[in-house]
Amino acid sequence: MTSNNSIDKYLRPGKHSETLLINQISQLRASNKQKVYKFGFGQSPFPVPKKITQYLAESAHRKEYMSVQGHPPLRQAIASFHNDIEDKHWQADQIIVGAGSKILLFCIMAAFEKAEILLPSPSWVSYEPQGKLAGHTVDWIETKFEQRWQLTPDALERYCQARKDPNIPLILVFNYPSNPTGQTYSRSQLRALAQVMKKYNIIVIADEIYSLLTFKKDYATLDEFYPEGSIVSSGLSKWCGAGGWRLGFHYIPKQLGKAFFQAVIGVASETYSCASSPVQVAATHAYENQALAKEFLSRQRKLLSEVSEYCASSLSKVGVNVHQAQGGFYLFPEFSNFKNQLANRGITTSEQLTTALMDEIGVALLPGTAFGMPKSSLTARLAFVDFDGAQIWSSENEHAEYEKTIEGIKRLSDWLTNLD
Ligand code: PLP
Repeated sequence: MTSNNSIDKYLRPGKHSETLLINQISQLRASNKQKVYKFGFGQSPFPVPKKITQYLAESAHRKEYMSVQGHPPLRQAIASFHNDIEDKHWQADQIIVGAGSKILLFCIMAAFEKAEILLPSPSWVSYEPQGKLAGHTVDWIETKFEQRWQLTPDALERYCQARKDPNIPLILVFNYPSNPTGQTYSRSQLRALAQVMKKYNIIVIADEIYSLLTFKKDYATLDEFYPEGSIVSSGLSKWCGAGGWRLGFHYIPKQLGKAFFQAVIGVASETYSCASSPVQVAATHAYENQALAKEFLSRQRKLLSEVSEYCASSLSKVGVNVHQAQGGFYLFPEFSNFKNQLANRGITTSEQLTTALMDEIGVALLPGTAFGMPKSSLTARLAFVDFDGAQIWSSENEHAEYEKTIEGIKRLSDWLTNLD
């Protein structure tokens, strides 16, 4: 090899996932003993329950490759768990298990030689790059603060009517509770959207990775109204605090056909082969132990909703447009009320805003552009999970333990109110 540069022009435009990048920057700043409020990275702040980690330790000897589709007892446990807790009607043989739900999202996209990927903006950072890696076109439908950043049936209908070639499969990636907005859909909203989805045969990936962390009990799911076209994506990462275990799954409806299922299995077998065997065995216990899960979930929801309420109401008080989260780890504040003051400092884009916040007060947020928002929209994602859930639960005074979150929100509020 003469020079590494000779290959550069043949490379894909390499982009490190923005969420992982902000975490690295935050760590760098922290290692230089600078204070950082890590609202950039949305990792579960809760420990995996001890019983489940014990199962993992006891399963370390499981060194065999498991089937590509996933360990049958695990698929059965996942189906029973979601049927009981979320009133699904799933069969274990329609579930595929993967090394995290992220790779499965890619497998679905890569199973098509040609498809169009449709995303509401804002949407999670990895859908667009995955669609492009799979060789597809990716389109966005804009949403508005006033509509809680949600996709409306009218906007979806307009998009479908304007498509040049309606025969190309259209895949909508539809996530609720949403990363980055914290918003979820009601049953009536989902019913209305499902009518449009049916009319245009849209294949929907319903990303429900945060569904078990919906704060109120009235959790709604698209596959109640559009079971034939909804692939449901979920896994252990969020509700069980086990992101690094890399265990996710997809429920693929029978109606999408055997050939499609086999195509997805084909991509899985040529990429990750199977999810880690010890993790699959431990996950089987996690899904089988519903009493443990329910207790763990209700404690998490209580604390998450309390922290989110504190953050959203504090920011609203100083003039930030922000909706209370309805589930998950995130808020999506909009700073247009500070537009003039920010412009006076040369800040006109969300990236400039988040850079200034990091540089000046050590508050790490991700810019709206990372989620497909236009450059000029003064939006950012705030992950309100920079605390240690285990410490809080073992402490007498819960508030004392998310003090750092409170401090970070105060710094942000003060910075905004002192902009003039
Ligand atoms: N979907 C959303 C909306 C997410 O926020 C994440 C993780 O951050 C994922 C999917 C991927 O989760 P995992 O691959 O850990 O299952």
